[in-house]
Parts: sequence; C-alpha cells; structure tokens
Amino acid sequence: MNTIKVKEKFDKFINFLFPLNHTCNLCGREIFSGDYFCKDCESQITYNDKTICNHCGRRTFNSEEYCTSCSGRETYFEKARSAYVYAGALKPLIANFKYHNKKYLAKIFAKELSLLYYKSFFNCDFVLFTPMTDDRKEERGYNQARVLAEEFCKVTKLTLIDDCLIKSKETPRQATTESVKERRLNLKGSFKVENKQKIKGKRLLLIDDVMTTGATVEIICETLKKAGVKAVYVLTVASVSKGPERID
Ligand SMILES: [Zn+2]
Ligand SMILES: [Zn+2]
Repeated sequence: MNTIKVKEKFDKFINFLFPLNHTCNLCGREIFSGDYFCKDCESQITYNDKTICNHCGRRTFNSEEYCTSCSGRETYFEKARSAYVYAGALKPLIANFKYHNKKYLAKIFAKELSLLYYKSFFNCDFVLFTPMTDDRKEERGYNQARVLAEEFCKVTKLTLIDDCLIKSKETPRQATTESVKERRLNLKGSFKVENKQKIKGKRLLLIDDVMTTGATVEIICETLKKAGVKAVYVLTVASVSKGPERID
C-alpha cells in the first residue's frame, strides 16, 4: 500500500472519530459538539418545558392549570403536548422540514417527541398522523407529519396506522385573519375514517408538526371519536403559546 493510500485511510479513521463536518441544523455553521444547533441558533429556540396548560400543552405565562381557551371547555382530545414553542428560529426550521425537503430533521423532532411521550404517560395503542389529500402530497412530494410519525415509531416501537384516517377534501390554506370558528367551518367534512374496526375502542396518538389554532386537531379528534375511538392524545413538534411571542 502506498503512502498516499495509508494517509487516506488514516484521515478517514480520524474523521470517523472526530467528525469534521458536523453542522448546525439551522444556519449550517460548523459546530464541534454533538448538539443539533450552534449556540446562537439554540438561543433562538424555546423548549416548551416551562409553564404549560395541562390540557392543550401550550406554553402559558401564569400559574393557572388551564389556559384561557381550555378552561371550562370540552375537547375531543384527551391531552396535547408539544416539544417547542412555535416562535423564533423554530419557524424557519419547521418550514424547512415541511416545504424544503429537509426530512432528516424528523430524527431530531422524533427524539424530542418520544421523550415527551414517555414523560406524559399517554400509553397509546397506535400512532396516526395528520393526513394530506393525494393532490397535496403530489405537489409537496411527501407528508411531513407522516415522516415524523414514522421516525417516532422507529424510536418508540409503537405501531403506525396509515389506512384509517383519510383527508378526503382539500381545505384552503389557513389565512392569518381566520378565526378558530371560521377555520373549523372550513375544515368540516375534510377528514373521514376507514377500516373503523381497527381503531375502535383504542387509545390513539395523533402526530403533527405544529398546533396553531388547534382547529385541525379538533376536527380530526372529533372524526375519530365519532368513529368509536376511545381516546386521542396529541403530540406536535411545536405549538403557539398562549401569550406574547417571545424568546427567553
Ligand atoms: Zn446555527
Ligand atoms: Zn389550553
């Protein structure tokens, strides 16, 4: 073996031990630790691990058990939790995952969601994800909620069910001016359940990327409950907080 080849092998070995091209998942800068983000980007990300609403899991800014939306209101889901607050650098990160083919981010998110799942004692029988219509899937190339749920099931060894919850009708993209009530009306009848017997009487975990108004989650859970599902729990990567959008 000539010296150049020996050197190549040695370099490969060193790179394996000390990977040189480990970069921040947000800004792409090289980092020298096992973290996902550089220190600057990490400071722009808020983990949802402070005060939260005990029902919807959104970050709150007081010590009440429930947020103003959940207090005294029945919902079709049992409980929801999210790993991050949907603000700051989380927004472009989710957009990259959703629209720009950065599917590898699912690994980071799924790890966070699995920790949250065990911490929350949801104990579900099956995992489902927010479905897309075939047209939307074709347009985007993939359903990010499915990619996330698949990765989550690899970690938790839970079973993914993809033939029970169907999105049958396209809904207009959510407008910023739309109220929760309007969103609910727009979403009505968009989801349906097939193969009911599979999920009847079961505890399900619904996975999605972001919870904003919560209208989509509500409609899905209503559809599932009316089809005979016992309980639905929800995990999202991020949720909009019940308070001012700020990073700290
Ligand atoms: Zn960075
Ligand atoms: Zn709440």
